[in-house]
Amino acid sequence: MTRFVDQVAITVIAGNGGPGCFSFRRERCLPKGGPDGGDGGDGGSVILQVDSRVTSLVDLNFKKTFKAEAGSSGSGKNKTGHKGADCVIKVPLGTMVYDDDCDQLLVDLSSEDSVICIARGGEAGLGNARFKTSTNRAPRYTTKGEVGESRNLRLELKLMADVGLLGLPNAGKSSFIRAVSKAKPKVAGYAFTTLKPHLGVVLLDSGRQFVVADIPGLVEGASAGAGLGDRFLRHLSRCEILLHMVSVFEEDSDYDVIDAIEKISKEVSLSEQGLSGKVRWVILTKIDLIASDALQDLKDVIFKKFDIKCLAISSINKHGIEDLKELIWQDMQN
Ligand code: GDP
Ligand code: MG
Repeated sequence: MTRFVDQVAITVIAGNGGPGCFSFRRERCLPKGGPDGGDGGDGGSVILQVDSRVTSLVDLNFKKTFKAEAGSSGSGKNKTGHKGADCVIKVPLGTMVYDDDCDQLLVDLSSEDSVICIARGGEAGLGNARFKTSTNRAPRYTTKGEVGESRNLRLELKLMADVGLLGLPNAGKSSFIRAVSKAKPKVAGYAFTTLKPHLGVVLLDSGRQFVVADIPGLVEGASAGAGLGDRFLRHLSRCEILLHMVSVFEEDSDYDVIDAIEKISKEVSLSEQGLSGKVRWVILTKIDLIASDALQDLKDVIFKKFDIKCLAISSINKHGIEDLKELIWQDMQN
């Protein structure tokens, strides 16, 4: 399994501008030719570019410094130096770029075609030919070329998804995303089988689609740092709708549906990711495991107690799945 990395610190250093050249034209028949020192080349810049094939920041975790090439020096005969090559860093969609020294957000790379120059290459130095005037026909100065910008950056990935799945381990989140999309997170009857977030694209018809994020299960106390959940909660901060998945039945005799809803509701209200202000629906899962009148009773209790929209699905026999997709789509249009 490739590792999922959603936060890295890196240093970016743009290339210096190449120095201008000091030179005079010297030819046998032209003993006092004029100045012909060319300009240097501009330094290369460091560019951040969104690439849809990149799904985490793991590749940036190994190399810490990214340098663009310096511009080369100018030379005689008015030759300009080569421009230094840019250093292009590919990042996943949803990468937020902070200046790590002052903790300021520089840019949020949240569209498919985002490209940004994050450290500008130094401007080239000027050759002495540039300084020739009517009163100074043999200028003896050049400029060195600017130093390229450098920055300490912190990159934080916040996944781009329309719909986020929340729930205790084993609630049936991964099974749901498998049932509605081509994403294939691991499914198993034990806690924490999902160790990294997964995104799934849900297609309805004729171009209607939305993206669902499955994050590792939350446990009680996650907002305060317990388990894996807290680290991943921020990946839901861009979602419009949260689906709070709750299993209607578990083998464990201590399991209680109302209690399961309360645990996650508490984590949502305590989280600092702005999740409590979002639309949240309770989705009862695994309804193939209980009788329909028991399900109806459960829905009534939940509605009375929490006053929250409550739907029911089974990922195994696909019950309620199409209706839920349609409801999500409609809600997103408002
Ligand atoms: P997650 O931890 O929330 O991602 O839950 P999983 O999707 O991994 O599911 C946990 C367990 O519940 C697995 O053993 C699944 O096979 C089972 N499960 C998930 N959805 C359903 C369902 O609709 N019906 C039944 N009977 N079992 C389900
Ligand atoms: Mg899972």
